[in-house]
Amino acid sequence: MSASKLFLHISLVLVSILVMALVISGCQKKEGEGAKPEVAQQAAASASMENLKTAYAGAAKNIDWYDKFSKQAQKENLGDISVLFKALARSEKVHADMFASLLKTKGVEVTAPAAEPLPVGKARQYLKRAASSEAVEQSVLATYEKVAIDEQFAEAAELFRRSRGADERHARLLSRAIEMETNFARLPYVMCPECGYIVGSDKMDSCLVCKLPKEKFQKI
Ligand SMILES: [Zn+2]
Repeated sequence: MSASKLFLHISLVLVSILVMALVISGCQKKEGEGAKPEVAQQAAASASMENLKTAYAGAAKNIDWYDKFSKQAQKENLGDISVLFKALARSEKVHADMFASLLKTKGVEVTAPAAEPLPVGKARQYLKRAASSEAVEQSVLATYEKVAIDEQFAEAAELFRRSRGADERHARLLSRAIEMETNFARLPYVMCPECGYIVGSDKMDSCLVCKLPKEKFQKI
């Protein structure tokens, strides 16, 4: 065999080995993708874990602000608005607790974030600010719920759904307060302790969001 033929032969062998190696590694990759769905799922579920932490931090901030909005309304002698903010703060506490307790079952301890400085304003401005932030929160929670469903993280999806249902109610109560320029009739607020749904004068046998019987509702 001449030197050039030998060289060609070695080159062909090397190319064949390279092609084989590429084919094998391609097959392994496909097998790996198919064989470890639970790993992919865990990685995906971490998106919902992050969303739970964000939702917790948002609810914790809302508790603080709604409490302060309530005090500001009290200073302005707007007792009806003050009571509404107090009800919203109670509802947000339910949400913060439910997110924290699910995170705890997954080994994550959360603590309330540092209080953010309160924007300067009057009670009626706070009503508008709260209404627009509740609207944003609802759409964020809807996204979180969808992500959790995709990740088959049913408990998280249910909490996001409950929180969104209660927040929808917050937004309606805030709109009502904004529309009624003068003092509006103070509603005998009660709340579902499971999901934070606030009931005004409506008659219902069970919570519209989580079906808890009305006997278990708490007075605000
Ligand atoms: Zn409920």
